[in-house]
Amino acid sequence: MEKSKRKTVIAGNWKMNMTPSQAYKLINEIMPLAENLSGCEIVVCVPFVDLDTVSAVAEGSNIKVGAQNVHFKQTGAFTGEISADMLLECGASYVVVGHSERRQYFGETDEIINLRAKAALESGLTPIICVGELLAERDAGITAEVVSRQTKLVLAGFTAEQVKNIIIAYEPVWAIGTGRTASAEQAEEVCALIRNIIAGLYNLKIAEAITIQYGGSMKAGNAAELLAKPNVDGGLIGGASLDAAEFAAIIRAAQ
Ligand code: PEP
Repeated sequence: MEKSKRKTVIAGNWKMNMTPSQAYKLINEIMPLAENLSGCEIVVCVPFVDLDTVSAVAEGSNIKVGAQNVHFKQTGAFTGEISADMLLECGASYVVVGHSERRQYFGETDEIINLRAKAALESGLTPIICVGELLAERDAGITAEVVSRQTKLVLAGFTAEQVKNIIIAYEPVWAIGTGRTASAEQAEEVCALIRNIIAGLYNLKIAEAITIQYGGSMKAGNAAELLAKPNVDGGLIGGASLDAAEFAAIIRAAQ
C-alpha cells in the first residue's frame, strides 16, 4: 500500500505541562493555525485534568484529543488510576501508552503496556503505543532486537481486527526531549522494521495499513525530512507541541 493511503497522524504530547487555564489558552492558539489543514489527523494528548477543557474547545474541529495513560481495568480499587471509559467520557479518542517516561520513571513493562493498550482498544480508544531503544542499546548494535521484542510483546494476543486500530510510535529514548533527533534514515529503518514485524505477526495488508509514527525532538525544522520517508506516517511530538506556531508548522509539513 502506498504511504499516501495510510493515515498520517501528528500527535502532540503535552506531558505534565499546562494547567486547565493554560491548556485553554494553548488549544485556542492552535485551533486557528490548524483550521484548514486536512491532510493529516491532528491530536493533542493532554494531562487528565485538561481533557474536559480541551475537548470542549476542540469539539467540532479537526483536532482530536487524547490522554497520556490509561489503566487496564475499567473500574475497581485502583486508587489514583483512570479508566478508558472515563477518558472517553471526557472527550478523548486517543491515548498514549508505554511512553518511555512511563517505562523509565514508573517501571512500566511491555506486559503492562500490552494490558493498557488492550483496555483502550476494548473501549474504543486508539492507543498510540510507544517503542524505542535506549542509547546504550543503539550503541551496542541491538536496536533491531530491542524494538522487535518490544513490538511483539506489546501486541501479544491482539487480534488482526484490533491491530488495525492501533498506532505505533517509534521513539528512540535517546532522542526524546534531548534535542538530538534520529536522522531520517535511522527513523525510516526502524519504522520499516516495525512494519515488517507486524507483517510477520499478522499479514502484509495489515502491516501496510498501520500508522507508524516517529517521535524524538521532532520540530518544524526537521519534520518535513522525517515525514517524507516512506515508512514514517506522522509524529509524536513533545516539546514542540507546546508552541502553537511550531506545532502548526509540523502539521503543515505533514500535508
Ligand atoms: C515525546 O514526548 O514523545 C517526545 C518525542 O518528546 P520530544 O518531542 O520533546 O522529544
